[in-house]
Amino acid sequence: MAFPLEARLMNLKLLGPCSNCGEPAYIFCPECGMAPEYQPGDKSDTYYCDPECQYLDGTYHKPLCDLRRKICAAELVSLFAREVFEWYRTCVYMHPLTSIGACWDQSTGFPDVAVLHLDFTGDLHHPWSREFPSHKGFSFEFNQVAVLAFQSLPAAALLGRMIRHLLEGVVTGDIKFAQVDHKKRDFDLVFDIDDDTEPTRNIPLEPHHTVLIFQLGEERWVMDITGCQFGIEETIVPYHQYFREGRCEIIGELKPYTMTETTDLDKPEDFTYAQRILPETKLSKHQGMHERAARLHLKSFIDAHFFNETGPDFNKDFLPSLMEKGNAVIKPFVADLRSHMREFSDDKRGRIDPSDTRDLADIEDWHEVISED
Ligand SMILES: [Zn+2]
Ligand SMILES: [Zn+2]
Repeated sequence: MAFPLEARLMNLKLLGPCSNCGEPAYIFCPECGMAPEYQPGDKSDTYYCDPECQYLDGTYHKPLCDLRRKICAAELVSLFAREVFEWYRTCVYMHPLTSIGACWDQSTGFPDVAVLHLDFTGDLHHPWSREFPSHKGFSFEFNQVAVLAFQSLPAAALLGRMIRHLLEGVVTGDIKFAQVDHKKRDFDLVFDIDDDTEPTRNIPLEPHHTVLIFQLGEERWVMDITGCQFGIEETIVPYHQYFREGRCEIIGELKPYTMTETTDLDKPEDFTYAQRILPETKLSKHQGMHERAARLHLKSFIDAHFFNETGPDFNKDFLPSLMEKGNAVIKPFVADLRSHMREFSDDKRGRIDPSDTRDLADIEDWHEVISED
């Protein structure tokens, strides 16, 4: 029951043969038509010429439709999580970034190396977060790389409860946590550190990286919300595609994903990378306390939205409304989040463990604060 004339009048594009009757088809299945196409052609079998054929094909198509809806849901959760983490980092950026540069690939003419210029000279004793200097960025993509670089473990910890909560009923079985080593990268990132005493030096990208692994029906997927620093644009990727061609490999065992906001800071011995960036020095200890306070500030926001037992049942309705309305749900959420995180940056409380009740303006030597912990 085709309607090519109406289709032409409505400017609809011919997609292929109808899955039910074989006539020219112009509509995707409205339930799963937005599912991301990761394997070329993996959506080519589900078009309909009209809603009646869609209805008639329902029973046959349903298992595939359910799976694709789960893929849609998982992708949306991962995009939402990345958005939340990006804004968290943008509000409480902790590197003394002065600018972002680029190197070009001669053969393609495109920039393929982000160079983050850091200046530690003036700020060594004030490692407080500040707003990310987005106006100094080279491009949107490079800003995103700078914001998310080295953040895979903090992101997994900080967003742990929220991601597990949103994916409940979507994934089959438990979500696993894995450390991976990216051997080949599509993209490079270097830190260029300016200081008075030593010449500029480049630091190669840390190979240890954290991803989540989960099952959708029979299929295994990888969620990587900070993968842009390796040139991975998608936030969820089929497992075999992610690890194909030795691009990266898993280090050690897969672990159940049970991280909470500060687990990597509180027990760094479990996380080799966190242990290396938070050695037992006074300065880094203070930075760790500061980061902990920032994460707890975000936690209070997430708690109010997803784990508030007395409030409206927002948590249960969130994923369906996210799937239905997309950006119309994400944008106001993120706007609230930004003002919430700005409270932290503006408040002295944001500069020290919240349990410390002293007036920080009275403390002249910041090391005094650290040594008492
Ligand atoms: Zn048809
Ligand atoms: Zn469908």
